[in-house]
Parts: sequence; structure tokens; C-alpha cells
Amino acid sequence: MKLFSIKYRVICGVAFAVSGMLLLILFYIAIPPRRSELQPAFNSYKIFDRHGRLLREIMSKDYKTGVWIRLSEISPHLLKTTIIREDRRFYLHPGIDLLALGRALLDNIRYGRITSGGSTITMQVAKFCLGIKDRSIIIKFQEILYALKLELYLSKSKILEIYLNRAPYANLTYGVESASAFYFRKKSIDLSLGESSILAAIPKAPSLYDPYINPKQVSLEKEKILSELLKTRIIDSLSFHIAVRESLNIVTADINFEAPHFVDYIIDKLEKCRINNCLSVTTTIDADIQRNISKMTETSLKTLSEYNVNQASVLVLDRASGEVIAMVGSKDYFDARNGQVNGCLSLRQPGSSIKPFLYILALETGIAINSILPDTIWEFKLPDNTIFAPRNFGNKYHGPTRVREALGSSLNVPTVYLLEKVGFPRFFSFLKELDFSSLNRNATFYGLSLGLGSGEVTLLEMVNAYRTIARGGMTSEPRSIISIETRSEYPQVHVKKERKIFSPSAAYIITDILSDNGSRIKAFGDDSPMNLPFPCAVKTGTTKDYKDNWCVGFTTSYVVGVWVGNFDATPMQGVSGVSGAAPLFRDIMIELHRSSYPTRFPEPPNLTTARVCGKSGLIARDECPVKIDEIFIPGTEPRESCAVCRDTSGTRPVAYLGLHPALNADHPFAIINPRSGDIYKINPQVSYRTQGIKFIVETIGDLGDLDFMLDGRSLGKIKYPYGYVWSPVAGEHVLVVLGGGQSDRIMFQVF
Ligand SMILES: [Zn+2]
Repeated sequence: MKLFSIKYRVICGVAFAVSGMLLLILFYIAIPPRRSELQPAFNSYKIFDRHGRLLREIMSKDYKTGVWIRLSEISPHLLKTTIIREDRRFYLHPGIDLLALGRALLDNIRYGRITSGGSTITMQVAKFCLGIKDRSIIIKFQEILYALKLELYLSKSKILEIYLNRAPYANLTYGVESASAFYFRKKSIDLSLGESSILAAIPKAPSLYDPYINPKQVSLEKEKILSELLKTRIIDSLSFHIAVRESLNIVTADINFEAPHFVDYIIDKLEKCRINNCLSVTTTIDADIQRNISKMTETSLKTLSEYNVNQASVLVLDRASGEVIAMVGSKDYFDARNGQVNGCLSLRQPGSSIKPFLYILALETGIAINSILPDTIWEFKLPDNTIFAPRNFGNKYHGPTRVREALGSSLNVPTVYLLEKVGFPRFFSFLKELDFSSLNRNATFYGLSLGLGSGEVTLLEMVNAYRTIARGGMTSEPRSIISIETRSEYPQVHVKKERKIFSPSAAYIITDILSDNGSRIKAFGDDSPMNLPFPCAVKTGTTKDYKDNWCVGFTTSYVVGVWVGNFDATPMQGVSGVSGAAPLFRDIMIELHRSSYPTRFPEPPNLTTARVCGKSGLIARDECPVKIDEIFIPGTEPRESCAVCRDTSGTRPVAYLGLHPALNADHPFAIINPRSGDIYKINPQVSYRTQGIKFIVETIGDLGDLDFMLDGRSLGKIKYPYGYVWSPVAGEHVLVVLGGGQSDRIMFQVF
């Protein structure tokens, strides 16, 4: 009884467990497969330039390219070749092929390892859906159960459709549509029998049957597949022979990879905007211009390498629309040393290229363009009682300077002086209004040196801010996407409204200064690379220690920014904006306007002009040596005439002093004849009385009486202008002239 009871219990237990298992299995099979498992969102999408040229096909997150198509959109040849290759009894079995499984089991036992899985197409689909990558008995069991579930809920056609859309075709290509586009530049509906047998060969072992790596092996597999089709009378011998002789027309692996930094920027933008169901994105970039500028950047860096300049970034915006036309992030995207860094989006000190915004603000606050600023060594007392003493580039100072010259020649001292006048907090919030969002520290962190470009910003921010000048004070966000095609609706992308930051008058005056070669002569000379053959406003910037070098500017068509330097911030060697970024800027501007030169900058209607003195900035008088026609915001033009340039009529020309370098405040007079060491000869042929030597003393104006002493004896007190004719006597002589505690002395000989 006890024995029976134990036996009974064991049997009951086992029966219970088995029926439990069976119930679980039935339950598992009974739950329909989820849609997300069958068709994952791994569709790739394409990014195009503004003319519809492919820049890059973006793979899904796990780097798979794939496009989903219906079974009716696939060549019938491919259906035949795939079924004969993978699962010839596909239409007969219920998801598992016991014959194939049994054969696989025997093979595995014979070779002592797993050589084949005996998987049906349905089981492979199960593997895709479950994301199975490993092999084991338990996993195989799970695969079988899922295959049964698939057969329960889906038609054979649907299962085949899933297989053909998810099978791996090597080279990171998934699905027949991507594969036929990748290998044959064709839609899969157009595949021939030969091409179909090549594609059908790959999924069994994608790395082994990669058509690029093992073309011969793939050819053999193709023939094998075709022979099977012939043997089973699925094709006739004519089709067989045609397909066998068909040459392998596999196109070279030419993966589009244009404008890489820009495409990365777009992907990032889409992700930030949560747009994740794209089919295609048409962008604003122009692939031709991009390619040209990329090459020009590379060439320019070759000439700069001797100055330890290894990187450059270029950004081109359309002036009117703000569309990004070109974005070169670095010299070479594939360079292992920071090549993928996008210099257009990196934080850098802008140096003097920030200055125009301060000058615009100064004009807006009523400071006139003719105001005189000090350009000398100047110490600014900061709120914390420390002293800020800016220096000019090259330690050159020019004394009193008009606003136009101070900006044009990029003088530092007048700029900081102006910033102090305008007020630092005001300038800081002005820059924030101009969308310099990188200036995200506390205002006090930056201090007065912000006016000299010490606050880090991006090239994109800078170029777009210059676009605001080019558009008469109207700012709007730069644009990089023209249109997005998605599978479903996507979230609304917030774009800041266009808004007015400053007046067209201030914008025009600054544009005029930046495009006026005359105003930068003081610092850059007459023939700098910034002097373009058409109207172009341009400004350079170089940071302390030569780490960053900028050149930003615009015409009526484009806004261009160039940065050169090193990503690891090692200093360049003696490169300034003029020698570093400016030549590349110039080349790009000329290239952009090759087909049509830009027009002149249109002048707003309400400006007035006045002729001012170059020295004082006040209304020019006839005697002012330099006269300039200056433009003014009405109400800021000068009312007084120049009082600096003196009326010099009736006095000796100032230039006369230049003949006698010996004269200055300490030596107000000098004997200029005879000169020390002169030797005279008395002419015996001529009457002695008619011969004489004229003693001449040159002075700075009338100094009162001077004493002329010859050989210690006075010749008398001589009046202005100082001259005395002496009748020569043979011998050595010393002439001394005395006056006002000063003296001059020379020696001469007569014989
Ligand atoms: Zn004057």
C-alpha cells in the first residue's frame, strides 16, 4: 500500500508537472505575437541636400539599414530562390520541419558540435522577433514554440514577408529592399533570377557569403541554388542557363557620406525635437558648395601647418533666409585626432570679432560715429578696485581716434573705453538678445574683457549674429531643414520668432565701417586679404596667446565665418586674423560669388552725411588737413567746427622743422652754417673784401637776442632771424652761440 502510494504520488506528480508544462506551452502559444516584435521600427531614413542629392542614409539605433516592403513588392524570383535555399518544405510544415530537425540532430551528434540548426523560415523569423543571438537547447525550444505561435496567427505569406524584410544581407544591410539597392542599385521587384539567387545565398552566413569579400564563393552558392531549382523543376533549363551565365554586376560599395558634421548636427536636432519616425529629411545644405569649401579648407590648412595651425571650421549662411549652405566642422571627419569634433558648434573665444556688436550698441545709445576715443595706454578701474589695462595688438597706440577708425582698425583701448561708457550689463544683455546663448555664466564672470571677446561662443552663434547686422538689425534662427517626411505626425518644432534687435541705421553704419578698407588701414595696411573686389563687410579676431583666430563677414547674399586654430587649444605661432582665417574667408567669398557679384549694401533712407575733420571729428574747416564724409544717425551729427587744426597762414610750415633734426625743446637753436669741421680756402684771384662766410643759426621761432662768440670774442648780440657775415681770416676757429642758458659750438678752418 505504502509502495503503491509512493509510486502513485510520483506518477501523479510527473503527470501534474507535464500537464502543467503543456498548459503553460499552450498558454504561451495562445498569446498572439506583438506587432512591435514582428515589425520593429528599425527603418533607416535618408538625408538629402537642398537639391535632393543623398548625403547619408541613417541607420537605425543598432546600425541596421532597412526599408520595409510588402511581399507583392518583391521579385517572385527571390521568393523561389529564398525558399529553395532556406526551407524547401516551407509551405508544408507547421512551423517546424521534423525531417530537417532530425537531420540536424544527427549531423550535430556526428560532428560533436552544432553545425546546423535545422531551422525553418518560420523559426528564423521567431529568432528575429525574439532577438535571439545565442544557440542552446532551451533557446531552440523557445524558438520552436514561438514558430508554432507564428504559424497559428499569421499566414505563410506574412511570415515570408517578415523574413525577407528582416534577414541579414551582410554589410549592415537588412531586408531585401535595402540589399538590392545596396548591391544592385535596384528595387527588389526588379531583381533578375541570377541576382535573386545571389541575395538568397547571403543570409545563411552573411560574413562568409559577403559578395565583396568572397565573390567566388557567392558565385558557387548561386549555381547551387539554381541547380536545385532546375532539379525540382521550378525553373526550366533555359532560365537556368541564362541565370548561370549572368555576370555578377555588383556595384562597388559606395556609401554616401557627404557633409558629415552637418548630417550629425541634423540627427542630433531630430533627436532633440523627438522626431523619430523619419523617412527622409531634405536639408538646406548645398552639396557642391560644401564639397568645394571642404577642399579649400584642407588646402588652406596645408599652408598654415608651419604655424602650428591644424584645424579649421567654416560656416556659410544664406543672408536672407538663414539657411545653412555649408558647414565644415573640421579638416577631416575621419581623422582619429578629434576629426569628428564640429568646430562650428564648439565653444571658443571670439576675440575682436565680437567688437562690432559693442559699437552698434554704442550708436544705439546715442554715441556718435565721429566721437573721439582715447587710444593710449589707459587703465580702467574695475568695481573691485583692480585695474584693467588693455593693450593694443602689437602694442601700437594712435592717440585720439574716431569711432570709425577704432572699430575698423580693431583698437582695444578705445573699445574698452566705449564699453565703460555704454555700461557692461547693458552690453551683456544685448549679446544675450542676439542669441549668444553660450554666454551662460554670471555677467560679473566676464567683466570688461567681454568687449575684447573673452567670453566663449560658437561659430554658429557668431555667424548668425553677423547675419543680424546684414539684415538691418532683424534676427531669426538659422535654418538647416527644409522638409521632413515621416511615417506619422511629429511634434511641433518650436522656432523663435523673427525680431528686431537694433536699428537699420546702426546696422548700416557698422556695415559701412566693416566694408571700408580706409578705416582699417591704421592696423592692417592698404592691401589686406579683407579688401575684396566687391562690397563685403568683414571683421577678424585673434585671442590672447594666438589660440583662436576668426574671420566673419557678409555680403548682400551670404554670411561666412571661418575659425582656425587647434582643438586642443595649443597656440598657433604668430598667426593673426589677417594671416590665418582671412585668406580662407576671402577665397570662400570669391567662390560663393563666382557666378554673380553681390550688390552694394542698401542704405536706409533716414541717414544724414556731414564732412568732418579727420583729426577732431568736428565739422571740417578749410585748414583741416584730412576731411571725411561721415554718415550719421540724424541728431548725432556735429554742430561745431574743428578747433584743433590751427590757422597756420603767415607762419613757417611745420614741415620745415623736419630739415633740422637737431632742434627740439631742449635745443631750441643750432648753428647750421658753417658745419663743424668745414674747411674754407681764401680765393687769391678775388678781392678780399668781397669774400665772406655766413654764420647761420636755425631756431624754433624768435628766441630774442643771441650772443655770437668767435674764438672767445663777441661778434655782438644778433637779432632774429639769426645771421652774421664774417670776413675770413686764415687759421683754426671756434664759433659759439649763446642764449637762454643754451649754447651751440662748432669748429672750422680757413687757409
Ligand atoms: Zn580739423
